[in-house]
Amino acid sequence: MISPLLSNAETQGTLPVFSPIDGAEIARAPETDPALMPEVLARATQAFLAWREVPAPRRGELVRLLGEELRAAKEDLGALVTLEVGKITSEGLGEVQEMIDICDFAVGLSRQLYGLTIASERPGHRMAETWLPVGPVGIITAFNFPVAVWAWNAALALVCGNPVIWKPSEKTPLTALATQRVFERALARFGEAPEGLVQLVIGGPALGEALVASKAVPVLSATGSTRMGAWVGPKVAARWGRAILELGGNNAMIVAPSADLDMAVRAIVFGAVGTAGQRCTSLRRLIVHRSIREDLVARLVKAYASLPIGDPRKPGTLIGPLIDQAARARMLAQLERARAEGGVVHGGMALEGPGAYVTPALALMPSQTDTVREETFAPILYVLTYDDFAEAIALQNDVPQGLSSCIFTLNLREAETFLSASGSDCGIANVNIGPSGAEIGGAFGGEKETGGGRESGSDAWKAYMRRQTSTVNYSAKLPLAQGVRFDV
Ligand code: NAD
Repeated sequence: MISPLLSNAETQGTLPVFSPIDGAEIARAPETDPALMPEVLARATQAFLAWREVPAPRRGELVRLLGEELRAAKEDLGALVTLEVGKITSEGLGEVQEMIDICDFAVGLSRQLYGLTIASERPGHRMAETWLPVGPVGIITAFNFPVAVWAWNAALALVCGNPVIWKPSEKTPLTALATQRVFERALARFGEAPEGLVQLVIGGPALGEALVASKAVPVLSATGSTRMGAWVGPKVAARWGRAILELGGNNAMIVAPSADLDMAVRAIVFGAVGTAGQRCTSLRRLIVHRSIREDLVARLVKAYASLPIGDPRKPGTLIGPLIDQAARARMLAQLERARAEGGVVHGGMALEGPGAYVTPALALMPSQTDTVREETFAPILYVLTYDDFAEAIALQNDVPQGLSSCIFTLNLREAETFLSASGSDCGIANVNIGPSGAEIGGAFGGEKETGGGRESGSDAWKAYMRRQTSTVNYSAKLPLAQGVRFDV
């Protein structure tokens, strides 16, 4: 048995599923026939008509129960994340914890969803802004956070009054099926909920394309590569839908002369090699002041040499495998390109045996070359050098992506400048913390080719609702705004 969260039928379908731990096929997931998508969409539309009438705090109760069921299933679901994606045990569990955290957040939100009252210029009038359910939300997710990203979207969408349709990565159907099972447990305890409130479809881009194309999906949240987002974004816009795009990053750390280097080294290593460099917020570029570069690189080369790489289930392992052989081939090819551009590479070797294991790479680059400006979803850290602070910020911003960024400095002027209008252009900017490992309380997402979407905390919920401005006239007159006269 692969997991107590999966039935036999869920592992004996047609879509082959491989564990990156050893590259072996572990199951065949049941696939959704694309011809069935109109039925899926119709069920979600029907579910919306009922769910939007349920009071938001009651909708929150379903999400509270989901959080409880996730707590009970944490060990099993975390272990399945490790098996299907290759994350080390604590990161597999951490991913489920993130699902629990967003449930807690959304439950509180279900008693808020605040609107506004706004001063009206007309006597005897009241103006207000109200947030209302918007309709079925499509959720397309990437392999690297196979379940947490669903939870970021689903917990908010559900309390906001919307059904969800989830198309997970075709590389990670098992964790999705298990999550659906956990949701069904919550649903059974909740009682009355419309059929089709939370649906899961398993398969490749064709299913995602059905969500992208359908007007029955007013909000489509898509997480994945910039290539995917470049296709999805315009299609959703062309049918007047709203896309929440969470795409690739090319995240940097500036290390200033005053930085606490012991702290910086720990943050760099976790940021660059954690999850084998397969986080959208993984650290990919290090922008180091010339005066400390030699010292920092020496420390990193030493730290990299002692990193335990191997089976992610084993206690002590810090670097598991890449998702598949294609990902490893891409990493090795990018390192070749970096060398051709004048880079000096430490590490970056393929390890023998089954599974796509690598030693993480440090690539000392002469400048921010074309290769550095691309996101490679693997543990490659490019090291760049700066002399003055303005140059460091210019390098940080001079990439197409704008997800996460950080600075290590004890200089207040540098820290505040980094966070100011003339500082980092990213959706996330940290001081004395690495770029990855966000908490769910803040809005998550980035600018430029990262897509501009925000999920998770803060007021990200507003993207899952429609805004209505209403003016009520409780006077006996009918004045027009802006003093316009129209006497009839
Ligand atoms: P991917 O783009 O290959 O696939 C992501 C999802 O999109 C999958 O479910 C896939 O089936 C679907 N898809 C692909 N083409 C589609 C199409 N034409 N129409 C509809 N759906 C389509 O990405 P991946 O390799 O699974 O994930 C890695 C990428 O995701 C990286 O670039 C990473 O930075 C990014 N990512 C971003 C965030 C974020 O929040 N910004 C979070 C996680 C991952």
